[in-house]
Amino acid sequence: MAITVQKFGGTSVADAARIHLAARRAIRALLDGNQVVMVVSAMGPTTDELVKLAYQVSRRPSKRELDMLLATGEQVSIALVAMAIHEAGYDAISLTGAQVGLMTDSAHTAARIHSIDTQRIHRLLEQGRIVIVAGFQGVDSDFNITTLGRGGSDTTAVALAAALGAHVCEIYTDVDGVYTTDPRLVPAARKLDVISSDEMLEMASLGAGVMHSRSIELGMKFGVPIHVRSSFTDNPGTLIMNETPGMEDVLVRAVTLKPEISCITLAGLPHEPGVTAAVFDELAARGVLIDDIVQTVDAQHGRVTLGFTVQGRDEGEMRAVAELLAQRFAVERAEINAELARVSVIGVGMRSHHGVASRLFAALAGAKIRVENVTTSEIVISVLIPAADAERALQVLHQAFGLEQGVAGAERPVQSPDAASLWHRHPAGVLRPVQSPAATERPVQSPAATPPAAPGRGG
Ligand code: ADP
Ligand code: ASP
Ligand code: MG
Repeated sequence: MAITVQKFGGTSVADAARIHLAARRAIRALLDGNQVVMVVSAMGPTTDELVKLAYQVSRRPSKRELDMLLATGEQVSIALVAMAIHEAGYDAISLTGAQVGLMTDSAHTAARIHSIDTQRIHRLLEQGRIVIVAGFQGVDSDFNITTLGRGGSDTTAVALAAALGAHVCEIYTDVDGVYTTDPRLVPAARKLDVISSDEMLEMASLGAGVMHSRSIELGMKFGVPIHVRSSFTDNPGTLIMNETPGMEDVLVRAVTLKPEISCITLAGLPHEPGVTAAVFDELAARGVLIDDIVQTVDAQHGRVTLGFTVQGRDEGEMRAVAELLAQRFAVERAEINAELARVSVIGVGMRSHHGVASRLFAALAGAKIRVENVTTSEIVISVLIPAADAERALQVLHQAFGLEQGVAGAERPVQSPDAASLWHRHPAGVLRPVQSPAATERPVQSPAATPPAAPGRGG
């Protein structure tokens, strides 16, 4: 029997009525002949409130205790969802991360999944029960509760879908799919029927909060079909799928915004081997996560200017870091700009078309928006701009690349939305049940991108 994993975000279980709605959706999937696993986030703003509470009690709460606290949010919602299913006359059981053997490393507030023990879930599913798993949480090898980073329930859902061999992982949320940009910021944003996983991964890492980026990495690695859709309607949402040739016909698929970027510039460093390495050693030792690095060399005077960006706008902390580096490396000048944002255009079409950069710079110039720094990859161009211009830049670029609703030919559906058929399953694609520690697989490999328990939206 096919297994369906359905994930419900914070707004989709924000109150009793929505909990009943989520329960009904799972029951419908059961009656359609599926075995159903639900992954549920904390209700509404619960996680944000818990984070706030922690910082009212302590200026620097212990990350272990933060995880202990934040994981309670999901425990509340899974129990309530189970009760709602019972109320409708069906059998369901709620389980925490620990109870499904979701083992992680010990990186509190940004843990990565090592393995999941699926035996118990399979047994319960075979008994006809709906299994409701707490998103966002796991345990390390010492049974300390860990969390996967803000928005991490998506990753729980995709990891479970991989481990169970589910035919689809449905992400139910408060928008009806993935849009060309955040519809809250650009009302003209358009829903996409399909998006390639490469594009979705870039979008998630570059600010589109709709999916946790590690969930996309896992989906790609294990061939999990992901369908992002509304928990309030039955409309088809967006399929995150392997790339097909037609996808490159579209120049730019989406535009994203990452607010709150700070840039530190160190001017006049000696142009000698080992200096840059020593600067980044120092930053790593202080746990500073670097986004981009730009280095320019003044060969005539044997000096280097090194700039790097970090997420967040904690100017006090940035200043402390800059002063420390300035003293340690005898730089001529250290500058901080904490009022920046990053806007990015993303599309696999960039592989086969030119002209994206010129159109982007012309649009920004037309809007009199200054560009501080540019970074590119195969399918992305990102610009660092003044934070005050960020939302305007998003709108300007969205329009410049014809992404608004109603623009003919901006996007063509590639195939009918049958999620499972759009994926080539990864040959070794399914996480196996844990037999012994040696049998575990490590699905997540990229560095943690999520800042520790930063207050965010929803869940
Ligand atoms: P959930 O609680 O269901 O996980 P999230 O708040 O994490 O929901 O993600 C959904 C939100 O992501 C939307 O309300 C929307 O404002 C935001 N978002 C940002 N970028 C995009 C995008 N490109 N497409 C759709 N939603 C986006
Ligand atoms: N409740 C957690 C959060 O708000 C996890 C999630 O919603 O995905 O970040
Ligand atoms: Mg989310």
